[in-house]
Amino acid sequence: MELLEALNKHWGYEQFRPNQQEAMTCVLSNRDSVVVLPTGGGKSLCYQAPAVCRAGLAIVISPLISLMKDQVDSLRTSGISAAFINSSQTHDEHRRVAEAVREGSLRLLYIAPERLVQARTIEFLKTANVSFFAIDEAHCISEWGHDFRPEYRSLKMLRKHFPGVALHAYTATATEQVRADIIKQLGLKKSKMIVGSFDRPNLFYRAERMDDRMAQVREVLRRHKRESGIIYCTSRKAVDELSELLNGQGFRTLPYHAGMDPEERSRNQEAFIQESCDTIVATVAFGMGIDKSNVRYVIHCGMPKSLENYQQESGRAGRDSLDADCVLFYSMGDYARWKANIEEGAARNRENSFATLRAMVNYCTGVRCRHKSLVEYFGQKFEPELCGACDVCTGELNIVDDAQVIGQKILSSVVRQGQRYGGEYTAMVLKGSRDKRVRSNGHDRLTTYGLLEDQPVPTIRDWIEQLVSQDFLIREGEYSVLALGERGGELLRGEVTPTLLKSGDSQSRLSKQVTRQKTNWEGVDRDLFDELRNLRHDLATQAGVPAYIVFADETLRQLAARKPTTLAEMRAVHGVGDKKLADYGEAFLACIENYDGTASGDSETPDSTTDAASALAANG
Ligand code: ADP
Ligand code: ZN
Repeated sequence: MELLEALNKHWGYEQFRPNQQEAMTCVLSNRDSVVVLPTGGGKSLCYQAPAVCRAGLAIVISPLISLMKDQVDSLRTSGISAAFINSSQTHDEHRRVAEAVREGSLRLLYIAPERLVQARTIEFLKTANVSFFAIDEAHCISEWGHDFRPEYRSLKMLRKHFPGVALHAYTATATEQVRADIIKQLGLKKSKMIVGSFDRPNLFYRAERMDDRMAQVREVLRRHKRESGIIYCTSRKAVDELSELLNGQGFRTLPYHAGMDPEERSRNQEAFIQESCDTIVATVAFGMGIDKSNVRYVIHCGMPKSLENYQQESGRAGRDSLDADCVLFYSMGDYARWKANIEEGAARNRENSFATLRAMVNYCTGVRCRHKSLVEYFGQKFEPELCGACDVCTGELNIVDDAQVIGQKILSSVVRQGQRYGGEYTAMVLKGSRDKRVRSNGHDRLTTYGLLEDQPVPTIRDWIEQLVSQDFLIREGEYSVLALGERGGELLRGEVTPTLLKSGDSQSRLSKQVTRQKTNWEGVDRDLFDELRNLRHDLATQAGVPAYIVFADETLRQLAARKPTTLAEMRAVHGVGDKKLADYGEAFLACIENYDGTASGDSETPDSTTDAASALAANG
């Protein structure tokens, strides 16, 4: 079978995503490869589609039991014979898998690395006509990666035991160092390196100072009524508290953190995946091993310690390529906490950690395109002038008019203070504070003293950060003292104007945000969509698989827009392959046919959704 034919038959997709075809061709032609694509880039298909097209058994090495199960469920729902072996199974289950391998009926077999490298597994697989090895989350092999797993190191032995069988490594982690390490550790030969763009164009990024947590969070949730999302908090206490507060206001949230009873925790995770709860409020403990493709928003209540972390956590939104929101609420308290954290830690990496943290702060407080900031941080170029999907480029931010003069005042003060003080202090001088330190330094006699006295200190602080993010100022050394940056001179000479924001502009943001949301739902009957979603929930629960595995959101949206009346019409919808059409086609067509379009639909209370679901289930 041809690749595209397989894509359409099993997945109901019409075309490749960027880099997929190239990656698949490596698999078909037995050429070792390293494929680096961002989360949601479609890495799994890069080995799944070729596994269907070529003879033999594909072995997929995957570190997480939960992910393995999801992937296998998802393949089976698409009519592809797949199985996994890991420690969660009984002896009997292992035997059944072994039989399937012997019969040659399996296309893909998922194995955890520690099991794969056991002598008897290796011996067994030698009898099994292995076509290739796909190594998922391949950065786990490198100590430089963020998730080193020693058991990945022994994968090198595959070369010896399976000469001539190609190895393919897949990861979303970008650094050169990690990539080189993957090649070395696996002993790849003349491998093809495929690196996709790290930009996630369907994610809309925003960063806002946290001033009223509840109001800010609520605003995002209201835009995503009954949609799935994650809220990250920085402490267990904050998780419990926020989840409860939101539930008190009629939202359907559940908490998740490492301090909870494991059973309750996995119940909550399950509820999120099956969509009987909309929002998970969690610490960063949540997310690894969750593949839910239709997460429509990721909110951070607090700043992560690095952009790597932010990229990874926010990246859990919108894996299905549909629009999703990533909103980061930060405070300078977060910065102080991370800084203290670094100071307490080992001295070895301190300078590095400070630089990482500073980049994170610059992202938050800066006024550069967020897409550009992220992509460039990971070492790639970002060409578009305006991304169209961040608060900076869409003009959501309120820009001050006299930014040049304000910028000059701030820079002069920094110069007059001898470039030896931090942001907080500089803000106090400009505010004209009676602070003891300012007076004892004689800085109350500077010409810049009190130059911005009509502005609140937090606003001045923000402006300083914004000047840093645009290279007019830099922070230096362990104490982060301010000094003139690369473009400082230009600003002082009045040759350029920085972008500075007015504070307290959350009201004006709202109307602009809503516009984008609307276009995304063009032609989609929202009430019908909700009904289809309920049906998906019921079918998924019956089958014991995650809801998004039955159909992706994109499929439901297209169904709710086109309202197909025949199986043939339904087959033409994105994400509907042969097997899913056979399994679910009738049920969805019936739901569309029975839908009369007069449902009240817009009901706010969580209960009515549940009622609709049970009514549907009762009807058959
Ligand atoms: P990754 O592993 O890179 O994070 P996945 O393999 O989980 O990404 O893919 C993300 C989503 O995109 C999945 O729902 C997958 O089915 C879908 N997808 C992958 N390739 C295509 C394609 N060519 N066309 C449409 N959807 C695709
Ligand atoms: Zn932008």
